[in-house]
Amino acid sequence: MQKNISKILENETFSKTDIINLLKADENERQLIFKKAHEIKEKHVGLKTYYRGLVEFSNICYKNCFYCGIRAANKNIVRYDIDDKEILEAVEFAYKNKYASVVFQSGERDDDEFIERIENLLKKSKQITNNEIGITISLGEQTYETYKKWFDAGAHRYLLRIETSNKDLFYKIHPKNEKHNFEKRLKALKDIKKAGYQTGTGVMIGLPFQTIENLADDLLFFKENDIDMIGMGPFIEHTETPLYQYRKNLLPLNERFILSLKMIAILRIMMKDINIAAATALQAIDALGREKALKVGANIIMPNITPTQNRTNYQLYENKPCIDEGADDCTSCLEARIVIGGDELGYNEWGDSPHFSNRKKA
Ligand code: SAM
Ligand code: SF4
Repeated sequence: MQKNISKILENETFSKTDIINLLKADENERQLIFKKAHEIKEKHVGLKTYYRGLVEFSNICYKNCFYCGIRAANKNIVRYDIDDKEILEAVEFAYKNKYASVVFQSGERDDDEFIERIENLLKKSKQITNNEIGITISLGEQTYETYKKWFDAGAHRYLLRIETSNKDLFYKIHPKNEKHNFEKRLKALKDIKKAGYQTGTGVMIGLPFQTIENLADDLLFFKENDIDMIGMGPFIEHTETPLYQYRKNLLPLNERFILSLKMIAILRIMMKDINIAAATALQAIDALGREKALKVGANIIMPNITPTQNRTNYQLYENKPCIDEGADDCTSCLEARIVIGGDELGYNEWGDSPHFSNRKKA
């Protein structure tokens, strides 16, 4: 089998069967995949990690995804919405600490008040940072007009995970209604790209009902859709969600973790010049989870800079890390761990996806 894995790794492109075999690699074999992914990272995007200061500014959401702890139907959490003033303080923190970029993320809303508020927030974030802060947003499905409005206001990267590229599985993890619609989500991804953003998506790994074939299709989906950035990580169950009933059918957490590392490594080999985030959910399983992802192909890390008092209420899943640490505590040893791991830090650099500029040139 080991020979097979080495042989597959020699291929220029991977077929679905190749990817399935790589995903099934055993402990020794997977080291070959990880080594190759690391070499490709070094050659195509450099051994450099870029920071994105993550501000989870509100857990108010009108959706009901079956996996998510902040879904609208969960009445057992305190809802919060951080003041613009505090959000802008977090932006200043990121800027002063040379993070160069922030990510604004929240539950999904599409009312006019929300749309306008985000527009202003984006403009102000630029103003207070001499137009220098790079902004990624992750605010769910919106109309093309809204995406464009926010792009024009200063955001230049957008993250909208497809969650799974398999339509049947999509409806096993979402209700089937107007707010949760597979085709709408696909269209949203296209609109994001059309509006001019560096386009990010991703999936959860280890979902109930998910197969290795589904995951192979997810990787092919990213390639076919010419995605610029990927954030994918393990699914972690939450008691107050419908998917919790399937917890006994899930892969053990450590296996979900290894599978996530394999997904990242295979993707790096398949899509050499994209940005790949080391998802926070990796850290919920292994304290050094994100650093391990950097060793196998990821190049983006998103330290949480949300004001601490609100973090406990942005619990998408159990065991969410760093909910009681301030931004400073969270980042002080992060740098040391990244550097020990062999990466340099891209301080004061946006670290945009090279794939995006290559795509534009082409
Ligand atoms: N509401 C926006 C959206 O859905 O795109 C942005 C925030 S949402 C909380 C961000 C991501 O969290 C989702 O795309 C999903 O993949 C992830 N997430 C939610 N629940 C999760 C869970 N139980 N385990 C792992 N990731 C989860
Ligand atoms: Fe809302 Fe996003 Fe959670 Fe779905 S994943 S319930 S849209 S916050």
